Amino acid sequence: MSKIFENYQRVIENIKEVCEKSGRDFSEIKVVAVSKTFPEDIIEEAFQNGIKIFGENYAQEFRRKAEHFNGRDIEWHYIGRIQTNKLKYIVPYAKLIHSVTRVEEVRKIDELSKKFGKTQDILVQMNLSGEVTKAGLKKDEINDFLNSISKYNNVKVIGLMTMAPFTSDESIIRKVFSELRKIRDELSKNYPEIKHLSMGMSNDYLIAVEEGATILRIGSAIFGEREYN
Ligand SMILES: *Cc1c(COP(=O)(O)O)cnc(C)c1O
Repeated sequence: MSKIFENYQRVIENIKEVCEKSGRDFSEIKVVAVSKTFPEDIIEEAFQNGIKIFGENYAQEFRRKAEHFNGRDIEWHYIGRIQTNKLKYIVPYAKLIHSVTRVEEVRKIDELSKKFGKTQDILVQMNLSGEVTKAGLKKDEINDFLNSISKYNNVKVIGLMTMAPFTSDESIIRKVFSELRKIRDELSKNYPEIKHLSMGMSNDYLIAVEEGATILRIGSAIFGEREYN
């Protein structure tokens, strides 16, 4: 059996187990297989084993892979840092962009979405850990942000994304995830389409499930360790 498939099955079993324990419905949770740095033949293998949602971090790599698999039943999610001038590589192919942090990005996504005749679903990335190396809005910035982008009709905010801080202290990770959920609950009173919580990676996805994640972004637990050249 394929190693990737085995890994994926284990991840799914783990998620189901936590769902059962915490009273959550597994069908509300989407797993994005983060394939950054892995070549097309590995993605092909994953696809042949039933994985249909892939996440990528780098704009040109994202476009290369999306074009390579053009016509397949695959959802491509962009989860990396955004450079506005590279959004043209992303918007034509993205089912969901997880990592929006600036009004200027939304303006550009709106312009490109119009051009390609689509409405682009996005998530707003929040930085709740205070780590300066991480992108994202602070809690007290999200309301103004949503006001400033309300005029962009070809962009739809369907949720929030965050990354846990780099720590082995589970309680700190949990606090960040639960904070994101509280912000979502509050916002959804005025913005009912803000539903999704993209949180949880290979090392913390089970905590994220317990704290209400609807989208998990899992790389190394499925594909193995990455090598960067
Ligand atoms: C790389 C990456 C992931 C996946 O990380 P793993 O630890 O390999 O699961 C998830 N989210 C973002 C934003 C990433 O850059």
